[in-house]
Amino acid sequence: MNYDIIIIGAGPGGIFSAFELVKLNPELKVAVFESGHALEKRVCPIDGEKIKSCIGCKSCSIMSGFGGAGAFSDGKYNITNDFGGTLYEYIGKKQAIDLMRYVDQINMQYGGEGTKLYTTAGTKFKKLCIQNDLHLLDASVRHLGTDINYIVLENIYAHLKDKVDFYFDTAVNSVEKLEKGYKVNCNNHSYICDKCIVSVGRSGSKWMETVCRDLDIPTKSNRVDIGVRVELPAEVFSHLTDELYESKIVYRTEKYGDKVRTFCMNPKGAVVNENTNGIITVNGHSYEDPAKQTENTNFALLVSKHFSEPFKDSNGYGESIARLSNMLGGGVIMQRFGDLIRGRRSTANRMEDSFMTPTLNATPGDLSLVLPKRILDGIIEMIYALDKVAPGTANDDTLLYGIEVKFYNMEVEVDEKLETRHKGLYIIGDGSGITHSLSHASASGVHVARDIAAKQ
Ligand SMILES: Cc1cc2nc3c(=O)[nH]c(=O)nc-3n(C[C@H](O)[C@H](O)[C@H](O)COP(=O)(O)OP(=O)(O)OC[C@H]3O[C@@H](n4cnc5c(N)ncnc54)[C@H](O)[C@@H]3O)c2cc1C
Repeated sequence: MNYDIIIIGAGPGGIFSAFELVKLNPELKVAVFESGHALEKRVCPIDGEKIKSCIGCKSCSIMSGFGGAGAFSDGKYNITNDFGGTLYEYIGKKQAIDLMRYVDQINMQYGGEGTKLYTTAGTKFKKLCIQNDLHLLDASVRHLGTDINYIVLENIYAHLKDKVDFYFDTAVNSVEKLEKGYKVNCNNHSYICDKCIVSVGRSGSKWMETVCRDLDIPTKSNRVDIGVRVELPAEVFSHLTDELYESKIVYRTEKYGDKVRTFCMNPKGAVVNENTNGIITVNGHSYEDPAKQTENTNFALLVSKHFSEPFKDSNGYGESIARLSNMLGGGVIMQRFGDLIRGRRSTANRMEDSFMTPTLNATPGDLSLVLPKRILDGIIEMIYALDKVAPGTANDDTLLYGIEVKFYNMEVEVDEKLETRHKGLYIIGDGSGITHSLSHASASGVHVARDIAAKQ
C-alpha cells in the first residue's frame, strides 16, 4: 500500500496533522496508524466495584487509541508559551500562539462551542501570589471538560474517517528510510509513503528511542518532574478556580532553591490512576457536566529534577521512584498531610476518621518512604506557601497521592519545520520532547501539515 503521508499515532498531534492535510489538499492519500483502539472501543476496565485498580491491559485505553493520552483528559486547553512545551523555540512565539488559537477555533466548531475560556489577564491573584512568594503564570485556558472533549473527538473522527485511512490496533514496529520516502512496518504488513509524521506521545517514548537509534537521529534527555497529587475540599481553592479555572503557580523553596509548581488543576474533579509502561502513577480529571462533579479539587505539586553529566536516564530515575510506591502500596499510595508531617503512615482507620472522602481508591501509606527527602521537603514547603493564598491547603485532612511523575520524552533533534535530518520525516507532539500538552501537540500537528501541503 502506498500513501503520500503516513501519520503514526492518533493523539492530538496526529489528528491535527491529518485534519489540516486533508483540509489543505483533499487529494492527498493519508493514513493514520494507531496502536490503541478506535474511540468507541476505548474503555478502561476499572469500574470501582469488580475491578478497583489497574490490571495492566495490553493496550491502555486511558493512554492509547483515537484521541491519544488526551481522550479522557480534563480537556484543559492552555493557550500560552509559558508552559506546556517549548514549541515557540522552534517556530516563534507568535506563530505558536496563532496555531493554538486556530486549533481552539476548530475544537469550538466540532462541539466545543459554549465552553468557557478563562484568563489570567488582569487577575488580582497575581498580586496576592507575589506577596506570598508565589508566581502565577500567564495563560488563557479553555476548559472543555472530559465529556465535551470526548464529543469534539467523536465529531472530528466523523469528519475524517472517509478522508483518511485509519488503522486501529495497529502498532508500527519500525520505520525504514528508502531511497525515496519511508517504509512503515507493522506486524503483518508494510506500507510505503513519501512523508512520515511520527506523533507517538508519551506512551510511545520507548519506541521513539529505538526509531532515533535506528535512523541515527540525535536526542537529549535530562529532566523528570516528580511529586504528588493533592486533593482537598473544592471550597479551599474555589476563589481561584472560579475565576481562573486552573492556576499554574510556581514557588522557589527556601531550603534548596528548587522550583515546585502546581500542575493540572481539576476543580470538583476526580483523582485517577495512570499506567505508563506498566507503572501505576496518579493523575486527575474533572467534568464540565455538574452532575458528574465531585466535592473535591485536585492538582499536582511537582518538583523538576534536571540532571547533569554523567547521568542521562532521568525517566529511569522517575520510574524507579514510581515503582517503589507500587511495590509498597500495590499501586498508588495516599496519605493525609497531617499524618505525613507527624511522621506516621495513614491507615484505613485514620482515613475513616478524616473529613475528606477520597475520589480514588488508593492504599493508605507513608509517602516519606518513597519520595526522596529533597522532593518531599519541597512539597511540604509549597503546601504551607499555598496555605497563605488558599487557607485550608495545609489542613491535616488534605490528601496526598503518590507518585505523580511527569516523564519527558527525550528531545529529538528537529529543525524549525519539526523535520528531522532525514527529509520528509517529521517528529511532533509529546513524542518529540518539545510539547507536553494538548494545545502544543495539536499546534505542532498543524504546523507540519502546512509545511507538507505547501511542498506538494
Ligand atoms: C489523564 C491525563 C490527563 C491529561 N490532561 C491534560 C489536560 O487537561 N490538558 C493538557 O494540555 N494536557 C493534558 N494531558 C496531556 C496530553 O494528553 C498530552 O500532552 C497530549 O495528548 C499529547 O498529544 P500527542 O499527540 O503528542 O500524543 P498522545 O496523545 O500520547 O498520542 C500518541 C498516540 O500514539 C500511539 N502510539 C504510540 N506508539 C505507537 C506505535 N508504535 N504505533 C502506532 N501508534 C502508536 C499511542 O497509542 C497514542 O494514542 C493529559 C494526559 C493524561 C494521561
